[in-house]
Amino acid sequence: MTQPRESSNPSSVEQPRAQAYPNPDESEDLSRSTTPVLVVTPHPDDAESGAGATIVKWAAQGRRIVLVVCTNGDKGSSDPEMTSPKLAAIREEEQREAAGVLGVSEVVFLRHTDQHLKDTYELREQISREIRRHMPHTVLTIDPNRPYIRHEDHYVCGRVTLNCVFPYARDRMAFPEHIEEGLEPHKVREVYLWGSLDPDTFLDVTDTFDAKLDALSRHRSQVGQGWELREVRARTRYAEVGKRIGATYAEAFKRIEIF
Ligand SMILES: [Zn+2]
Repeated sequence: MTQPRESSNPSSVEQPRAQAYPNPDESEDLSRSTTPVLVVTPHPDDAESGAGATIVKWAAQGRRIVLVVCTNGDKGSSDPEMTSPKLAAIREEEQREAAGVLGVSEVVFLRHTDQHLKDTYELREQISREIRRHMPHTVLTIDPNRPYIRHEDHYVCGRVTLNCVFPYARDRMAFPEHIEEGLEPHKVREVYLWGSLDPDTFLDVTDTFDAKLDALSRHRSQVGQGWELREVRARTRYAEVGKRIGATYAEAFKRIEIF
């Protein structure tokens, strides 16, 4: 993997575009699009897990992909020798490596504490800023709508991102400091939600599924133990989704068009 370059934003990293995987088919309307995509993930590895093959597919089509990572994942270990600061540093490195495999152009680390993501002015401002900065046609994030058992960080990430798509990033008078900085309001055209209980959009990711697994495997602190079993389960799970559209592998989304 090529080493990422630090960009002018101290919490973001410019990534070279990965070219190691074949171009997917161009049978879907969106697959012909070259518009930018903003991915907002609660933790390092969630985007790979829920939508990694779609990200690779879109990147390979020439879409510029920016990944915003909300939390530092510093609670994701049961190793008694591990510390939160050490784990946060490990997970950021793993995320950079995985982002290189996905073909992500830039990674923005918001570095909120794991398990403490809250719907705050700060988080709304940060995500709205990235929408205005990168002007995505498509925002890809996690579906917040899960009743009962759910990870609160996942809920907050999905819910706040949807709120930023509409109305905060779109409305001129929200976050007037952005205007002073030269960031204009931006209207996102569509949202894809992974992890939806009610998916309505199924993308054939047969050609990029191996890349998804490759990216996921880079999160060694999370998947290092028992990777073989996890890979088998992932292949089984996404092959089941693929049957919905007659594909070997597919990823499922709830798609929201914004008029
Ligand atoms: Zn997560």
